[in-house]
Amino acid sequence: MRNFDQYTKKRLRRYYELLRQRAERIRDHKVASIQAAHPDIIELESLIIQAGVAQVKNKIGQNYNSSEHDLESLEQKLSDLLRANDIPANYREPEYNCQICFDRGWVNNDYCVCVDQALIEINQQDSLYLPPADQNFNNFDLEVFSDQKNPVFFQGNLSPREAMRGLRAIAKKYTEDFQQKPDNLFLFGTTGTGKTFLMSCIANELKEQGVNLVFIKAVRLFELMAQRRTLLNSFSPDPEEQDAVKRRIDLINKTELLCIDDVGLEAKGLLNTYSDFIVLLDERYNSGLPVIMTSNLKPIQLGEDYDERIQSRITGDYQLLMFEGPDTRSKTARGKMEQDEN
Ligand SMILES: [Zn+2]
Repeated sequence: MRNFDQYTKKRLRRYYELLRQRAERIRDHKVASIQAAHPDIIELESLIIQAGVAQVKNKIGQNYNSSEHDLESLEQKLSDLLRANDIPANYREPEYNCQICFDRGWVNNDYCVCVDQALIEINQQDSLYLPPADQNFNNFDLEVFSDQKNPVFFQGNLSPREAMRGLRAIAKKYTEDFQQKPDNLFLFGTTGTGKTFLMSCIANELKEQGVNLVFIKAVRLFELMAQRRTLLNSFSPDPEEQDAVKRRIDLINKTELLCIDDVGLEAKGLLNTYSDFIVLLDERYNSGLPVIMTSNLKPIQLGEDYDERIQSRITGDYQLLMFEGPDTRSKTARGKMEQDEN
């Protein structure tokens, strides 16, 4: 059976409660409008109830033959009347989203399959850790990247634009294959070469597919881990703070896809949390849950500057995507000015 922290359980309960209330409210409106338009239906329904009561009393030997109508023929009449008016026979039943658990989220002593969708929506409601919405494949402009080959970039074999065209194709393929083949990606290169943009494109595309994901700056992730350590070592931690941190770390641990932006830019003071980071990567790897990271450091530099264990995991378990080129953040403005002059 799946288990969630108290906060998530509470949120799930609330989520399903609202879902049921909504379905029941819609049903109430529908019933009221049908009854207003078809008094004959109400009349037939009440006759059926009376006939049903009479039938039961007859069966148990109290000869209570008050109803002149036969139950079966009344039911037939009602069903004909409903069909003639295009009203479903079960119009008094709320239309629940989920036909398995009837929006209870719970069936046969376990969470229903619809709980995954509920969690996505809850996380989105929290609007924590989502990729920048405007960074998506539709807004992807290859023109931003230089079409000049330069021996400094890709050994002069590819212009940054050609390279980016290839990287974009890889990223698109990744989103198409994600459900069958969720790989780990490591996007690395200097500032302004489009790493974060491409990771955001992937994340937004997968979010559209309903993938439950977390998109977080490495600095923020490391702060959270440091905060958890501090709380663990504290004699009387604030239970609310503890719960909030646990909740966030759980979300990061268990989310279907974890996107970490700018690994390697964290303050060196948080270095001791690198072992927590390795535990996180290993747990996700062992659970088959993918990670995408961007970094301004090559894997070997991560090993030298931070921790060799991170380097070995990245070179072993990640598809490496290299970004090279001039910084587009400063070049975009200049390029635009040149265009304006022409
Ligand atoms: Zn369900």
